[in-house]
Amino acid sequence: MSTDLLIGRLRAGLGDKGVVTDPDILDSHRNDHATFCEAGVPAVLVRPSSTAEVQEVLRAATEYGVPVVPQGARTGLSGAANALDGCILLSTSRLNRILEISAEDQIAVVQPGVVNAELSRAVLAQGLFYPPDPSSWEMSTIGGNIATNAGGLCCVKYGVTGDFVRGLEVVLASGEVVRTGRRTAKGVAGYDLTSLIVGSEGTLGVVTEATLALRPEPEAALTAAATFMSIEAGIAAAAAVMASGLRPSLLEFLDGPTARAIQNYRDMGLPDDVGSLLIAQSDRGPRAAEDVAAIARICTEYGAVEVAEASDAEESKMLLEARRLVNPALEPLGATLIDDVAVPRSKLVALLQGIAEIGTKYDVLICCPGHVGDGNMHPTVVFDRNDPAAEARALEAFGAVMNLGLALGGTITGEHGIGKLKSRWLAQELGPVGLALQRQVKAVFDPANLLNPDKLFL
Ligand SMILES: Cc1cc2nc3c(=O)[nH]c(=O)nc-3n(C[C@H](O)[C@H](O)[C@H](O)COP(=O)(O)OP(=O)(O)OC[C@H]3O[C@@H](n4cnc5c(N)ncnc54)[C@H](O)[C@@H]3O)c2cc1C
Repeated sequence: MSTDLLIGRLRAGLGDKGVVTDPDILDSHRNDHATFCEAGVPAVLVRPSSTAEVQEVLRAATEYGVPVVPQGARTGLSGAANALDGCILLSTSRLNRILEISAEDQIAVVQPGVVNAELSRAVLAQGLFYPPDPSSWEMSTIGGNIATNAGGLCCVKYGVTGDFVRGLEVVLASGEVVRTGRRTAKGVAGYDLTSLIVGSEGTLGVVTEATLALRPEPEAALTAAATFMSIEAGIAAAAAVMASGLRPSLLEFLDGPTARAIQNYRDMGLPDDVGSLLIAQSDRGPRAAEDVAAIARICTEYGAVEVAEASDAEESKMLLEARRLVNPALEPLGATLIDDVAVPRSKLVALLQGIAEIGTKYDVLICCPGHVGDGNMHPTVVFDRNDPAAEARALEAFGAVMNLGLALGGTITGEHGIGKLKSRWLAQELGPVGLALQRQVKAVFDPANLLNPDKLFL
């Protein structure tokens, strides 16, 4: 294949604005945010501005047999948007329009390059709410959120991205367009292709439009934070909150090492010997104070040494600050490998205890923040990148955490996806029959294996 011919063909279809060959720009688009995932050198970056232009790109890719890697904002944490040698990077940055917000139907129709926060703010201005809120919401795109089935802090009450995707427009590897799903609240016509595309990490098609469900704007929220002397007490309190019938709109956990890193980063008044920290929120407006008081009572009952209850938005923000500081607080400690295991809530104590043992066995620091209400933790292995032995131990510990999650009946990824980072473990979770079936699905959508071909599967 001649790259010049391919680029000429792409320029003819997309114009100069849509085709980038500047090596510096290509280089800056090779990776997402994952560490330890190799990235190749792309042949070209395309920025289509319409569904028809995406079709053009995929027809050209099929004709020339060139792989295509869809890219949103490249905030992914599994290498799923990384380039491979000679590929076409397909950026959705110019497909960034909100096409419709319907208060009557409670839906939004958007192009994939719309940034999550932009959509959230636009619907809020009309008294509506788009709940999926990954911490990357100010950067990440709706297309990327859909392709990774992104979660967020308020999933514990409202659900993940996939719970809000009603229908999609998708360009297939052949260049054909398929519309999946519906605008309506209900619908069971045929297989649920929408759900198949959700979480497919750009391997089945390029999402060019999404119809998303909205909810009415939530009421004002209040927050509570409780410190415990042990991990077990914090987890037990979280389980009791979830079992109580209360529906917190956020329930986050920080283990002792994470809490100490935050305290060292910024004085939050956390004691040195803190075992764990629980942060909860209720967004039921006038009833939030009563919910937060009930959560505080449960935490005290389960041995909290200190419980703080916010009485207004400002205090709530302060109590949430510790959670927001996790990433900046861990950064100065060394390189990080962020895991994403999820287990049934009943297995969380076993998970946390097992992670502590893995840290000791491999002589690495593992900090463990997480969305405890969903059983989805982010054990983060911290190590010295300049020490190859430490790096090797960190990788072993990372794998051991996933094996532990699987042994406890969980999954190796609650929200970040497989990408390149975790493809080694996918077979273990799916089993041979499940894996073979998934490969067959991929072959039906993409027989020439051109869409993100080096992701998901080994
Ligand atoms: C600071 C930080 C915080 C984060 N917090 C969270 C969090 O709370 N919850 C969470 O779930 N994740 C989180 N992430 C991970 C990441 O933000 C999410 O995975 C996000 O959904 C990726 O969106 P993106 O636009 O950056 O997609 P990219 O990283 O560009 O791509 C991700 C995947 O989507 C595919 N893709 C992108 N657009 C399309 C499209 N239009 N059609 C088909 N495939 C497409 C890509 O090929 C790739 O496989 C965080 C990341 C960072 C850096």
